[in-house]
Amino acid sequence: MTTPENTPVRSTTPRQVRPATEGWSQKKDDAGRPLLQFASPKKGMPPAHLADMTPKERAEKLSELGFPAFRAKQLEKHYFTHYTSDPTTMTDLPAVGREELVGGMLPPLLTEVRRLETDRGDTIKFLWKLHDGALVESVLMRYTGRITLCVSSQAGCGMNCPFCATGQAGLTRNMSAAEIVDQVVRANRLIAEGGLGDPRRVGHEDERVTNIVFMGMGEPLANYKRLMQAIRTMVDKDHGLGMSARGITVSTVGLVPAIKKLSDEDIPVTFALSLHAPDDVLRDELIPVNSRWKVDEALDAAREYFDKTGRRVSIEYALIKDMNDHGWRADLLADKLNERGRGWVHVNPIPLNPTPGSIWTASDVSVQNEFVRRLNDAGIPTTLRDTRGKEIDGACGQLVATEDDVAAYGA
Ligand code: SF4
Repeated sequence: MTTPENTPVRSTTPRQVRPATEGWSQKKDDAGRPLLQFASPKKGMPPAHLADMTPKERAEKLSELGFPAFRAKQLEKHYFTHYTSDPTTMTDLPAVGREELVGGMLPPLLTEVRRLETDRGDTIKFLWKLHDGALVESVLMRYTGRITLCVSSQAGCGMNCPFCATGQAGLTRNMSAAEIVDQVVRANRLIAEGGLGDPRRVGHEDERVTNIVFMGMGEPLANYKRLMQAIRTMVDKDHGLGMSARGITVSTVGLVPAIKKLSDEDIPVTFALSLHAPDDVLRDELIPVNSRWKVDEALDAAREYFDKTGRRVSIEYALIKDMNDHGWRADLLADKLNERGRGWVHVNPIPLNPTPGSIWTASDVSVQNEFVRRLNDAGIPTTLRDTRGKEIDGACGQLVATEDDVAAYGA
């Protein structure tokens, strides 16, 4: 029998789960706030590589090594077109001095220590060891009509987001431009050899990575100079990979001064802001860098990116059950985006992995759909993003070398 005393009271207040780390502690600064590391230790950087240099610097380096400048063109072709750094295959170079030439310009950067693939072989996660033992990952995904590589830009990350496995260990170091580019070259080699599944195709020689997303380890805008050198090399048609800038997505948690710098570059890459909350109260906890640059400042910078480049901006929003997936937050996000004009932005909500028992778990499907509906109804184009990499634990924010990896492969 139900009595007034034991009738369950239905709360009308939506449940609010606050962000907190699980099983690890965030490093704190002197004021007790989550520590943000912007500066990278200088030690550990790899030897200079062709992809770290501008064409002019390549010619200078060759002359330093005692070789004529025109060798640069030959090396560029081997590396950016045939995806090789192996001197034994470079028979157009004189045998005498070839090893020194190739060793000086194309030093080895990434050693593959593990590869995981999905059953169909159309998604592959690589674990790479850098020359100093640091571990980073990249994820290669085949979609209909495109091949996307999710790359890392730093070993570790200094942004200390409480949901992110990569952030736990802090920043080990910035990756060099060539270490970033080499992830693409190595993926291209694998594709050319037929290593990325597509049972319907026979030859793969003409296939390569078409899209890059900087959503692996690290905050790309915290490694700005090397990021830009890597991007310039990726898009250079004469001296690099000749990719389309539009196919390259730079994603940030909101380093506002660097977003402004990116807006002034002459390379119209696709820009994505990982927002994850439209209100400062929650975002301060969810994305610690929000203590430096608030939601409105980050959105203003994103709008400025659109104004200067004409490229529509993406807002990334991981939907986390009862934490940031409330209807009112969808409405607030829509208001904030609409306040800054129409047609400049779209929103990609990202369904999180269902993780039983964790506060970091997937929103109910009905809640996801409602979130998307509210934004679309408010005139903001919104689509749930494909999180294919989940199957091999390679979805963004989960890219981390585990302690087991370090024990097995680390320096
Ligand atoms: S979510 Fe991105 S910015 Fe935040 S700690 Fe992880 S890798 Fe760094």
